[in-house]
Amino acid sequence: MSDDRTMPGWAVETLHEDYAQALRIATLLYDSETEHQRLRVFRNPTFGRILTLDDVVQTTEGDEFIYHEMMSHVPILAHGAARRVLIIGGGDGGMARETLRHASVEHVTMVEIDAGVVEFSKTYLPSLSAGAFDDPRLNLVIADGAEFVRRDRESLGGGFDVIIVDSTDPIGPGEVLFTDTFYGRAKALLNEGGILVTQNGVPFMQGPELTNTMRAFKALFRDWTCYLATIPTYAGGPMAMGWGTDGDARNVGLDELTARFERAGLETRYYTPEVHKAAFALPRYVQSLMPA
Ligand code: SAM
Repeated sequence: MSDDRTMPGWAVETLHEDYAQALRIATLLYDSETEHQRLRVFRNPTFGRILTLDDVVQTTEGDEFIYHEMMSHVPILAHGAARRVLIIGGGDGGMARETLRHASVEHVTMVEIDAGVVEFSKTYLPSLSAGAFDDPRLNLVIADGAEFVRRDRESLGGGFDVIIVDSTDPIGPGEVLFTDTFYGRAKALLNEGGILVTQNGVPFMQGPELTNTMRAFKALFRDWTCYLATIPTYAGGPMAMGWGTDGDARNVGLDELTARFERAGLETRYYTPEVHKAAFALPRYVQSLMPA
């Protein structure tokens, strides 16, 4: 049987061995090799502009709000007083945009390995960052996140209340961001009550990836789990976001979350305090991927 997955005029995602999704390229806007990866931007009538790295969908104008709102507002509102946030990856600027919507956030350091992703996103996907790169609270560092977390908190002006790992999948440059060593070093940069969240792929398709991260979190954190959000272009069911903290932020009640959400004055399209609470309810097949 042929294993030919080429489809002229379509972008075929090659992330999974036995399954592929194809997105029609209505207009190809950019196609180039950066220093680290192949970067493509094209337009699809349903999803708008789409960014792929090494042929894996990273973000689309149409559904990015779900991923970015859930990776930022869940930990920041659960924490309740996050002033300093570290984003690892996040080159398209969407995570910085949502994080900086919180007036309580005084400082964001974003560590992206590939300057090319930042530059091309500013040009071809300006709605993603929506001015975040010009916010004086943002410190953009072009470096490998795994190297960055080796630094001590003094040299960084202090620890962080929330760390968001907005990485590619564990292939290529993103692989180091899924190791026990990286998670341990990231934890060492958290302030008391701080929260680490990670993009952990789609559990139905990438179960072992979630199990590995959860095993590492179990050894590191008092409270560890994952929460879920359904993002259409991350095909195969809901996506898992890893959650690790030594604090009690997961147990903050719905009334308190609602009060924080209202005080923050956020306009969201996916996040609500109810969705936040419900996202931690895990179907059995996801529970079974958790280490015993
Ligand atoms: N939401 C996407 C997903 O799950 O498919 C990922 C978003 S994309 C912004 C991820 C970013 O992580 C890319 O810009 C990539 O260059 C960056 N990245 C990959 N490996 C990295 C590393 N070791 N250190 C810092 N950034 C990294």
